[in-house]
Order: sequence, then structure tokens, then C-alpha cells
Amino acid sequence: MTLQTSRTLRDYIRVERLPTTWCPGCGLGIIMNCIVQAVDHRGLDKNEVAMISGIGCSGRMPVYVDFNTMHTTHGRALAFATGLHTLRWAQKSHLRAREAVLAAKFELEGQTLCVLGLGDIGGTLARKAQALGMRVLGVRRSRAPRPTRT
Ligand code: SF4
Repeated sequence: MTLQTSRTLRDYIRVERLPTTWCPGCGLGIIMNCIVQAVDHRGLDKNEVAMISGIGCSGRMPVYVDFNTMHTTHGRALAFATGLHTLRWAQKSHLRAREAVLAAKFELEGQTLCVLGLGDIGGTLARKAQALGMRVLGVRRSRAPRPTRT
């Protein structure tokens, strides 16, 4: 891992949680490495970064990175992420949570979503997010074209 700032890997990884549960050779470690490097290269404050996941192998990534993290429930990562966004906005605007939820107009259109794993669940999420006008980045193991659904 190549870091640009004076931070070290220990600043980004919860080393007490290692080793990961991932299989040897699993690409998830490479993806986590790239995310940490991207945060470091952009000079982002890790306390301003949130990683929200659902279930499955990739869903365990928030366990290992030292950002603000939530390892949530099956198929609900987007709901938790938008809720967090709304409540952060409420906090900055000095609004009560109820007022913020009622006033929130969080638009999915134009937002970026990264989906790790494009199986049935990830692929369906990606298609629905695209239909809502989101920019979707997908990561999957195989380079083979994904079969289209009829
Ligand atoms: S995604 Fe596949 S290779 Fe990676 S930990 Fe899970 S089962 Fe193992």
C-alpha cells in the first residue's frame, strides 16, 4: 500500500480486527486497499468518511476500516446511508432529527453508488440505482460480460 500523507496503515485499519475472515486470494482485500488509498490520496479526514454495508463477505469491510462504519442488514445499506446523510445534515443545520427527516429532500439522482459484487442482489441493486439516475460503479471478480436478463 502506498500512502501519500504522513498517516500509516494503522491509522486506517482496525488492526485488532485482523486477520479478516476473507478467503486467501479474495479480491476484497485489494478493493479495501484501493478505498483506503483513495481516501488518503484525496487527503480526506477519515472522521468525515462513512462506509455502510449490507451483508455477505463484502459487507464485513466496515469491520476492518477505521472510518465511521455501519454493518447493516440484508438489502438495507442504501436506506441506512441516506438516513445517515439526513441526520448529518440535521446536525450541521442544528435541526431536530424529526424536522430534518420531514424537510429532507435527498435526491438519489446524480449520487454515486459503488456496488461490491454484482450477483443477483448486487446486480438488481445496480439496475434499480441506474434507473433512479444514479452513477453506479460495480466491482465483480470475473471479466466475462455479465449475462443480460430477459
Ligand atoms: S467473496 Fe468469495 S473469495 Fe472472497 S471471502 Fe467471500 S467467499 Fe471467499
